[in-house]
Amino acid sequence: MKVETEKHAAKKLAADINSMLSEYPGSMKFMEVCGTHTMAIHSSGIKSLFTKRLGLVSGPGCPVCVTEKLFIDQSIFLGKELGVCLVTFGDLIRVPGSSGSLADFRSQGGMVRVVYSPMDAIDIAIQVAPKPAVFLGIGFETTIPTVAATVKTARARNVQNLFVLPAFKTIHQPLKMLASQKDLTGFLLPGHVSAIIGADSYKYLASEYSKPGVIAGFEGLDILLALRSLVRMTINKEPKIENNYKTVVRQEGNIFARALIDEIFEPSDASWRGLGLIPGSGLAFKSPYEEFDALNRFNVEVQEEPDDPRCKCARILTGELTPNQCGLFGRECVPEEPVGPCMVSSEGTCAAYYKYGGVSIDA
Ligand code: SF4
Ligand code: SF4
Repeated sequence: MKVETEKHAAKKLAADINSMLSEYPGSMKFMEVCGTHTMAIHSSGIKSLFTKRLGLVSGPGCPVCVTEKLFIDQSIFLGKELGVCLVTFGDLIRVPGSSGSLADFRSQGGMVRVVYSPMDAIDIAIQVAPKPAVFLGIGFETTIPTVAATVKTARARNVQNLFVLPAFKTIHQPLKMLASQKDLTGFLLPGHVSAIIGADSYKYLASEYSKPGVIAGFEGLDILLALRSLVRMTINKEPKIENNYKTVVRQEGNIFARALIDEIFEPSDASWRGLGLIPGSGLAFKSPYEEFDALNRFNVEVQEEPDDPRCKCARILTGELTPNQCGLFGRECVPEEPVGPCMVSSEGTCAAYYKYGGVSIDA
């Protein structure tokens, strides 16, 4: 579509939404669960198209932001005290732990390798053997199948010095918690996670919580179309789950990837930054694969330290606050010197606000 045509379509969609909102007696607040949507909303200026009667808040859809500080501390302990080679995705290395980040540890001579795919951890383990290598296992349903495949491949190749420090998260349990918040009207559902779990898996949002949800692509027009559906369903009191990203997301999801996850992992409780311990929201190794669990293999003795009380990431991840309501935003906390994970991640809510601003028009 030509740029002018796109602009025209966007204006038309925004006008439709504002016209529907003008007939509605209250306000609406939708949560975009995924960080990629957060960035797209800010970079395309979508927030500036609406009055404050349509609120958009960011949720816990980014693995970096929801990873607790304890995990960073445990990782550094493994590297510093036990001499393992840490293997991680790039976003995680700047997240502050209680005594610095993985990047700080690396600059002090610690062994930290950044990879784009968990599979690369196998080659690294072979290179550093007999030293152990530990892959820092964060991620949602999008990433977890690749970690499962890595574990299976490591076993098939008899790589005995590769382990995983698990902090995997699954999306449905926190969504249920958020859906029970009265002031959240509905959800812009994550595109990539949905490709694995499938559109049908969200049915409970509509049937049990009467909240609409739309799975959308990442262009400005995709998001506006999804918002128009969410507003319309709210006004008509007909909450449903719509799949507007059919080129990528099937109703049943990716059965092969889910089977791979189920072969290696089973549901476990998990601690989320901002949401606390959520039963059944994580994944642990099944017994035939427990030998890969770094927490089983190594004695990781780390006390949990409280987060910096001035950092509001926890309340930002639940849609309670926006970044500019944090006193550190743009002052002590900037992308080059982040205090919390939401400013670290390239898809972090605070990073998005900092880069593009969080504009909205008064009603
Ligand atoms: S601005 Fe920084 S300190 Fe404040 S909530 Fe965001 S990441 Fe945390
Ligand atoms: S920005 Fe933060 S909360 Fe949002 S998806 Fe990324 S890491 Fe998660």
